[in-house]
Amino acid sequence: MNGFTASELNELRNQFPALHQSIYGKPLIYLDNAATTQKPQLVIDRITKYYTFENCNIHRGVHYLSQEATAAYEDVRAKVAGFIHAAKSEEVIFTRGTTESINLIASSFGKLLFETGDSVLITGMEHHSNLVPWQQLCKNHNGELLVAELDERGEVSMEQYGKLLEQKPKLVAITHISNALGTVNPIKEMIAMAHANDIPVLIDGAQSVAHMRIDVQELDCDFFVFSGHKMYGPMGVGVLYGKQKWLEQMPPWQFGGEMVDQVSLHETTFNQLPFKFEAGTPNVAGVLGLGAAIDFLQQTDLEKIGLHEMIILNYALEKLKSIPGIRIIGNAAERAGVISFVVEGTHPSDIGTLLDKMGVAVRTGHHCAQPVMTHFNVPGTVRASFAAYNSLAEADIFVEAVQKAVNMLC
Ligand code: PLP
Repeated sequence: MNGFTASELNELRNQFPALHQSIYGKPLIYLDNAATTQKPQLVIDRITKYYTFENCNIHRGVHYLSQEATAAYEDVRAKVAGFIHAAKSEEVIFTRGTTESINLIASSFGKLLFETGDSVLITGMEHHSNLVPWQQLCKNHNGELLVAELDERGEVSMEQYGKLLEQKPKLVAITHISNALGTVNPIKEMIAMAHANDIPVLIDGAQSVAHMRIDVQELDCDFFVFSGHKMYGPMGVGVLYGKQKWLEQMPPWQFGGEMVDQVSLHETTFNQLPFKFEAGTPNVAGVLGLGAAIDFLQQTDLEKIGLHEMIILNYALEKLKSIPGIRIIGNAAERAGVISFVVEGTHPSDIGTLLDKMGVAVRTGHHCAQPVMTHFNVPGTVRASFAAYNSLAEADIFVEAVQKAVNMLC
């Protein structure tokens, strides 16, 4: 199977109004997709339609608009469950995004299971969102945050991971794909190894869900979390998938709104799943936009998207490597459409600023993964990250722009 044909790619790009603009008189080349993707017209239209005609609070209304909005919101829950192959819709909780999903689990799962001295096992490549909540949870219980270190390629040492599991952490929390390096972790194997030690596993899917097919039952993960805005959907909405057996036992983390059953002045009983974890008025427009983003991904074909991005990644990597002074940060055997690099004698933000003036949008800095930067002994990197709508022609312009920036700075 190949990536997209030229006409398929053209058609795909035409669905994204933001791609058809000029920056400083240059056509925009958007390569900051790991931070957030652009939005297709059908996502924008879905949100506009909701606020234009359907706007209403959900779950508590007897009138037409409220019932319609409630049904549309719950339809998306079922759509998300189908998309990640959850066994039940009740296992899908809507949140504000990956960060909130992880904080919810750290708070609630922490209350359920953590005792003095308990630990969590993460890897050395985690985004701060999948590091700081566990670091704080461990600190609060006088426990240790266990870290499976990276090697010089940016891969986790599986031998060390296995050894750390023997210390019986209460939870393993690992990213599927590193946002800073592009490393794809062997999560199926890592989950099986943790389960062999009776340890539940959370997968941070922020960087994977828009690039490959996810089947939470096949993976057998206990939790899987992701954000709408990194998968062509809106900001401010995300998902926490959890196995029912955990979600049933976990206490609610925020109170008020639809998460209650009966309330008296001195006692409250809580609603059933999934509502137990959705306090207050939810982001209805965001959820509907997320549903449209899933429609987009399914219509476009996730497997083709993944292949297309790999073709661009390998093409751009090879070309970049020929520029003198470039050091690619992260060289894992299994990797996704992210290239992090530094140029000897230059600061990443200087390269990023020059690329911007040439219309090329990349991200520079530590990418919310400071321990990764420490590991590679760099202050930050320049990061280009690819999405379904990027093209080989854009990769050419990107590499030429890097070459020009290097010539100006070195
Ligand atoms: N985890 C990873 C791997 C990420 O790349 C990101 C965002 O870049 C996050 C978590 C946090 O996502 P959000 O800011 O949408 O909550």
